[in-house]
Amino acid sequence: MLQALYSRSPRGVQEHVEKVRSSDSGNFMEKFYVGYGHMSIADCGSTTIFIEHVSMFVAKAIQDWSLYSGQEASTRYLDFSKQPIVNPAGTPEAERIQRRWIEFYEKSLEKVQAHLKIKFPRRPEEKEGVYDKAIAARSFDILRGFLPAGATTFLSWHTNLRQAHEKLALLEHHPLKEVREVAINIREALKVKYKNSFDHPKFEQQEAYWEKYVGEHSFSCPDNHPDFGFSHTLELDKLKEYEELLTGRPLKTNLPHFISKFGQCTFDFKLDFGSFRDLQRHRNGVCKMPLLSAKYGFYPWYLDELPEDVRAEAQQLLAEQEKAIMELPVNDLDRQYYFPMGYTITASVTYALPASVYVAELRSNKTVHPTLRVRAQQMGRALRDSVPGLTMYLDENPDDWDIRRGTQDIIKKEDEKIQHNSMPGPEHGHRSGGTTTMASAGGPGVLPQNDQQTQFARTAERGDNGEKDLGISS
Ligand SMILES: Cc1cc2nc3c(=O)[nH]c(=O)nc-3n(C[C@H](O)[C@H](O)[C@H](O)COP(=O)(O)OP(=O)(O)OC[C@H]3O[C@@H](n4cnc5c(N)ncnc54)[C@H](O)[C@@H]3O)c2cc1C
Repeated sequence: MLQALYSRSPRGVQEHVEKVRSSDSGNFMEKFYVGYGHMSIADCGSTTIFIEHVSMFVAKAIQDWSLYSGQEASTRYLDFSKQPIVNPAGTPEAERIQRRWIEFYEKSLEKVQAHLKIKFPRRPEEKEGVYDKAIAARSFDILRGFLPAGATTFLSWHTNLRQAHEKLALLEHHPLKEVREVAINIREALKVKYKNSFDHPKFEQQEAYWEKYVGEHSFSCPDNHPDFGFSHTLELDKLKEYEELLTGRPLKTNLPHFISKFGQCTFDFKLDFGSFRDLQRHRNGVCKMPLLSAKYGFYPWYLDELPEDVRAEAQQLLAEQEKAIMELPVNDLDRQYYFPMGYTITASVTYALPASVYVAELRSNKTVHPTLRVRAQQMGRALRDSVPGLTMYLDENPDDWDIRRGTQDIIKKEDEKIQHNSMPGPEHGHRSGGTTTMASAGGPGVLPQNDQQTQFARTAERGDNGEKDLGISS
């Protein structure tokens, strides 16, 4: 917020630091933030929010934002079967549906791993530990198809204060109750931490407008969605003038931003919800949030990858579970919590040409989930066929087994010991000079520094069940 002084006082930063030090920080904030006259000053303060034990839908709602920065727990690397599950219906029948998915996930894990070891035998040059991790990752990739989307996850959200307010203002109108509640709790916690920065007035017409558009357009499930479709508004004649840039682009290098002005590319395709979660993380465009439903069935890849006996069991389970889900006395939005992530959704993404190329290339990589990888390859081929002279660095190798999946872990450099249970915690917060506010789902609270450290350590060590927590650090 010190940055505000540049706009109102043409002196050096050293002088400004002295001015802030000599004034009460609350008064300073009130004068230079609340009284500044434009929201842009709140772009200059940032905060990190830790959101724990929330369903995948909360994570998706927060990440559905072109300025989202953060990380989320991966169902591709972690066993999610121990995670609590959000059950909006609150009935024993509804809980039973979720429990049955988890039982299937848990009991199939070993069989799927054994099947994968036969399908992809270890080569002599491959390290056993890395191979085992790659097998585990692949089995999570397959079995996540049976994890109910109500399973809870962890995510962080690093944001500036203005974006935090603007995003929360929309989330507070979200049609899912869980999302609204989390948004309100985050705002309350932010108010405790940043006393002068989150007291925005509400305007009736604005609130009504948001209620309508967020309420009615948060999820979509169009009829007759294509298996794969591509359309564009690219001005090919104008792009031709830049053919040298399109053709001569080196590997792992983005097209220049100004190329974005020559039109947009829209890709419509079917995908499973699990892979949609990854696709949606690309922020440089529009990615509509789909409704998770039974309309387009279970994505075949997840069944195809199972050993035969497990597949037969899965097919029967899917039929029984789908019937039970459809009988639940909930609306279609809440019904989503009971479908597992292997169900088909309608993906629809629109990017300019540089972002389209980036997403297609990145996601065609072998380390990407196989169902998304196939779609990325299709995206890349569609671009290559439509834009004369466009160089595409696509990985089109049909073989989707890659031992490197076993190396994509957070490891300690010196001894390669797995560090899942010791993610950077309190020390990390100190190094960034931050203070921390924690808030539980029941309400916000500021913890003294020692407690803040404890909370972070506990969070990092726990990594499994626990109450829903929100942590905010700056
Ligand atoms: C194999 C793999 C494993 C992963 N595992 C995890 C995981 O476990 N947990 C997790 O949280 N994430 C994970 N991710 C990362 C997560 O999926 C990324 O956040 C996602 O891929 C988006 O990546 P991005 O930032 O490169 O893409 P984009 O959002 O598409 O951004 C691409 C580039 O464009 C820039 N950009 C974005 N928007 C704009 C804009 N509007 N204007 C100008 N520039 C813009 C970005 O800064 C970036 O440089 C993983 C990714 C991969 C490929």
